[in-house]
Amino acid sequence: MTTIVIAGGGAAGLLAAIALVRHPAPGPRRIVLAEPSGEPGAGVAYGTRSPSHLLNVRAAAMSALPDDPGHFLAWCRDEGLAVSGPDFVARQRYGPYLRATLAAALAAAGSAVRVELRNDRVMQIRADGAGVLVAIGATPIPADAAILATGHPPARPAWLPDDPRAIGDPWAAGALERIDPDGTVVIAGSGLTAVDLALALADAGHRGRIRLVSGHGLLPAVHAEGPLPARPAAIAPGDPGSDRIRTIARALRADAAAADDWRQAVDALRPVTVALWHGLPDAERRRFLRHGLRAWEVHRHRMAPEIAARVAALRGAGQLSVERGRIISVRGEPAALQVTTRSGGRMETQVTDALIAATGPATDPAADPLLAALIAAGMARPHPLGIGLDVEPDGVLRRADGRPWPAVRAVGSLRKGAEWEATAVPELRLHAREAADALLRDG
Ligand SMILES: Cc1cc2nc3c(=O)[nH]c(=O)nc-3n(C[C@H](O)[C@H](O)[C@H](O)COP(=O)(O)OP(=O)(O)OC[C@H]3O[C@@H](n4cnc5c(N)ncnc54)[C@H](O)[C@@H]3O)c2cc1C
Repeated sequence: MTTIVIAGGGAAGLLAAIALVRHPAPGPRRIVLAEPSGEPGAGVAYGTRSPSHLLNVRAAAMSALPDDPGHFLAWCRDEGLAVSGPDFVARQRYGPYLRATLAAALAAAGSAVRVELRNDRVMQIRADGAGVLVAIGATPIPADAAILATGHPPARPAWLPDDPRAIGDPWAAGALERIDPDGTVVIAGSGLTAVDLALALADAGHRGRIRLVSGHGLLPAVHAEGPLPARPAAIAPGDPGSDRIRTIARALRADAAAADDWRQAVDALRPVTVALWHGLPDAERRRFLRHGLRAWEVHRHRMAPEIAARVAALRGAGQLSVERGRIISVRGEPAALQVTTRSGGRMETQVTDALIAATGPATDPAADPLLAALIAAGMARPHPLGIGLDVEPDGVLRRADGRPWPAVRAVGSLRKGAEWEATAVPELRLHAREAADALLRDG
């Protein structure tokens, strides 16, 4: 019997469980899925209860199964939803989809395959011969292998005060409910999460001003109304200059100008992004993080047209604004929070009734207790860019001395430093299948 523990039951953990259950290897297997939230498949993206929060990937690309691209679409239709491939479905549907897919896979696999759900955190993973000993809460579980699918917790910016009006984790249950509906809210960030939060406040009847404040002051770009014809990538791995970020950026800009729609040029890079990233020296990757990241994020992580229309309406009504400014400090005064921002050389202090951090995930692995414990024990090391863990190309962890630890592998965003594109479902389902192939091939 092969035993595999999955740490984390968000989308990545469920996709890993689905791949392990569906794998055609003949041997019996036991999959232990540790997820403390009590809601497997929800995680940070799909746990939302708001119907205004849409997937930012079209339904046709959201299948859990790499070998069955229409699977999500077919499930939606079985559920009675009138959905077609180009649509952006409500995110709250995706957790039930993942759970239903796991249940169907289990029913098809028969009694030799079982999944045990543990409503607790993985606290530590130690080497145990060729396998591992995984502490789930206080219970040690011996296993042949472990999969890390813990995602990244929200970042807690240094300026966030310890004040009930300052919200560090906007996805925590009830976090937005304590905001005065007539008060001013500053949301730090102007990416997809900030947009989600603005819409969630509007849906909840918020009447006060909502100010999105970020260093660049740019909203995400908008998806085209319908799918666009595919285009070859402007630059491919191995092409001259593909190991320099400036050449890649130049090729992308030229291709965007030549394409009917600039989005085609951005989307064309997606299938080769991981290979391009692998071909970049760390100094070039750092150059991208310093100079190219903002522009890439804005154009790559786009909002659905329906969302953009609501944002425009809120801005048009004067309720929502998008402003440039880096938050420097926040002071909690009895009447309000005082938020000081800097934009260019200009400092400004404004008052607000509430402040929400939507500045993205904490990509430093030291922010996560399990990862910090693995690093302290020398069984993992941070990626040299400080984003997630250092891993082999197949996701196997690298220990402090650089040797691989084949019994433990990462799926999902912990691989972001190593692969860049590592968080969305199209990558997660490939990581999951790769892990199942590697762990079960001898079983
Ligand atoms: C707002 C938002 C919208 C998105 N929309 C899309 C989309 O439309 N399409 C798309 O393809 N991608 C989307 N993404 C990207 C991606 O699919 C999501 O980020 C997805 O949630 C990633 O899942 P995950 O399992 O890697 O991480 P998470 O969702 O963060 O889940 C990690 C889980 O691990 C658990 N955990 C953490 N530590 C431990 C531990 N020590 N032991 C046990 N459990 C632990 C947590 O409780 C959590 O449930 C979106 C991301 C965000 C933030």
